[in-house]
Amino acid sequence: MGLEILDDSQLERILVVVAHPDDAEYGISCAAKQWIDAGKEVAYLLVTAGEAGIRSLPPEECGPLRAEEQRRACAAVGVEDLEILDFPDGLVEASPQVRRAIATKIRKFKPDTVAIMMYGLQARWGLNHVDHRAVGVSMIDAIRDADNPWIFQDLGLPAHKAQRLLVANDPDSTHVQTLSEDAVAGGVASLSEHKRYLKELPDHPRPEDFIPQMVALDGGGYGLRVRVYDPV
Ligand SMILES: [Zn+2]
Repeated sequence: MGLEILDDSQLERILVVVAHPDDAEYGISCAAKQWIDAGKEVAYLLVTAGEAGIRSLPPEECGPLRAEEQRRACAAVGVEDLEILDFPDGLVEASPQVRRAIATKIRKFKPDTVAIMMYGLQARWGLNHVDHRAVGVSMIDAIRDADNPWIFQDLGLPAHKAQRLLVANDPDSTHVQTLSEDAVAGGVASLSEHKRYLKELPDHPRPEDFIPQMVALDGGGYGLRVRVYDPV
């Protein structure tokens, strides 16, 4: 079944919300590079610092290190607006607290488009991580919260309505965000910046092999597969 090409001329301000450092680097960062090269504004919000993500490193060392790797990954694709929250890695719940934190960012950044990773139970690599599932659900709820002036009123920020939601690598993807070779190279560079994290995973394929393969389209060229909800 053919996927539609996403008309990205409508996208101007894109907020990427993920659970951990490196999550955006599995396809979304290629799109971030594509969007930034086209003059669009892109911001990342991470719900955790990923401090429980490296088995051989205690959280107090791991969190700051992964945050630094994420800053470098962002620099590789030109993302300057990176915010990392301190919800506990591995223990994120779809909660009013997480919704409030995301809604705060939505009201401040005022995106027309929000992008998240796939949040179903079944992921491409196996069963999906609890934080990915919880952040996805919280994100969907936070979009509605951010637009409701009576919810999180005490933030003192005006309500904001995001128009569309993109779910990257969703098994039921509807569209393709096409990617230039530069965008794919940016995606490879951004994943490669998670050096210490990848070192812990000896079976992880090399970014320069894995990313181009992941975003290769059947008919040639590159694209990130996304499920689009518009309006959300
Ligand atoms: Zn993750």
